[in-house]
Amino acid sequence: MGVVRDMELAGAGRRKIAWAASFMPVLSGLREEFIRTQPFSGLRIALSIHMEAKTACFALALRSGGATVAATGCNPLSTQDDVAAGLCAEGVDVYAVWNAAPEEYERHLAGALAFRPHLALDDGGDLTALLHGACADRADALIGLTEETTTGVRRARARAEAGRLRFPLLAVNDADCKHLFDNRYGTGQSTWAAILHTTNVQVTGKVVVVAGYGWCGRGVARRAAGLGARVIVTEIDPIKAIEAAMDGFSVMTMDEAAPLGDFFITVTGCHRVITGRHMARMKDGAILANAGHFDVEIDLADLAALAARRETRRAGVTGYFLPDGRVLNLLAEGRLVNLAAGDGHPAEIMDMSFSVQALALRHLARHGRELAPGVYPVPRAADEEVAARKLRAAGLSIDALTPEQRAYLEQF
Ligand code: NAD
Ligand code: SAH
Repeated sequence: MGVVRDMELAGAGRRKIAWAASFMPVLSGLREEFIRTQPFSGLRIALSIHMEAKTACFALALRSGGATVAATGCNPLSTQDDVAAGLCAEGVDVYAVWNAAPEEYERHLAGALAFRPHLALDDGGDLTALLHGACADRADALIGLTEETTTGVRRARARAEAGRLRFPLLAVNDADCKHLFDNRYGTGQSTWAAILHTTNVQVTGKVVVVAGYGWCGRGVARRAAGLGARVIVTEIDPIKAIEAAMDGFSVMTMDEAAPLGDFFITVTGCHRVITGRHMARMKDGAILANAGHFDVEIDLADLAALAARRETRRAGVTGYFLPDGRVLNLLAEGRLVNLAAGDGHPAEIMDMSFSVQALALRHLARHGRELAPGVYPVPRAADEEVAARKLRAAGLSIDALTPEQRAYLEQF
């Protein structure tokens, strides 16, 4: 059963789940296959990822494959209480409540581990940390984990390098069918969807500063240009910076960009990318949003220290009123804006990410017991299978090499 806000919300949650499922053809196809092949028969799987409709579709696909599933969120602000209730009504144990306080959030993560999972999926590394700390006693049956996001993979690698990773972990983020689409196009669309919905302000003709030109930053910058903005990119990596310049964006330091931007969006995975020094030079009305993992990319302590007072100006918008009369607007309290103030990535994108996840978990179910603790790539075959299924679902075909073409290529 688990812990949810209100089971009365289950009907609304089920409608959201059904809507999302209708845009997830690859996952639906895998679910049908899993019904026949039962790859997770007898296995308990714990999920810690944003508790919203696409995640629910994924949990149900695993259950169709024979798993017993417990699910929790990975960010208290992205939990949708109706979806949590809807998934619970389907018989999945759900431990997630929107806006849970930090101790409550940790209790929910621990709740999803209570049944001593064989497999676990993490988004960001909080569940993995618990399995190495306060809940280590609930890891006795654990075969392995999958990790969804860039920062989570980085945390796992650091743990492995320090000789402290106790299980095999598959880096789902690093699969092509994950980051090429999810981080780039998913974050590009959902970040702007959340900013536009939260602020209702115009983007065309404005200056957008994107900090970080990795997979997420490329998507956020490209969508900003599509909305008619003039885009500035800040970077610390010279290769990414020259790529941004050749993609047509201005490149400069944050110190130079600070007085120019109307919007600032951080997607670096780093901390203190925007500090008081930058804020002190920003325009009146500037909008600050973070779409990177932690709420540390914009220095919230500096922002609070600069302001004479702060107040909620719209849902999800906190105005920081500076003594000189300027106001700086922070979205979603500096947390992942696309999930804290929106539904996250579109269903068609999560269709690919969750299909990679499903195949990664199936791989661990089959082979995880043979693997030593460490961080592993998702097998290339899984990437190729997801791409091939996505193409078929989109009605697209590609050419096959003829034997004569293959022979031509093989001579080099
Ligand atoms: P990435 O490694 O591809 O890109 C990060 C980029 O930021 C790199 O190019 C790096 O050089 C740059 N960078 C680092 N520190 C910087 C600094 N101080 N100033 C300017 N640039 C800096 O990572 P990614 O896949 O783009 O992910 C970025 C962050 O977003 C991670 O924390 C990841 O977990 C998170 N993420 C969020 C979503 C979402 O839905 N919002 C989706 C995927 C990933
Ligand atoms: N625990 C972190 C998580 C990072 S979120 C935090 O919220 O602070 C980044 C990940 O969220 C991405 O890798 C993406 O795959 C995932 N994501 C984006 N939209 C999603 C959605 N609608 N449902 C589930 N996961 C989503």
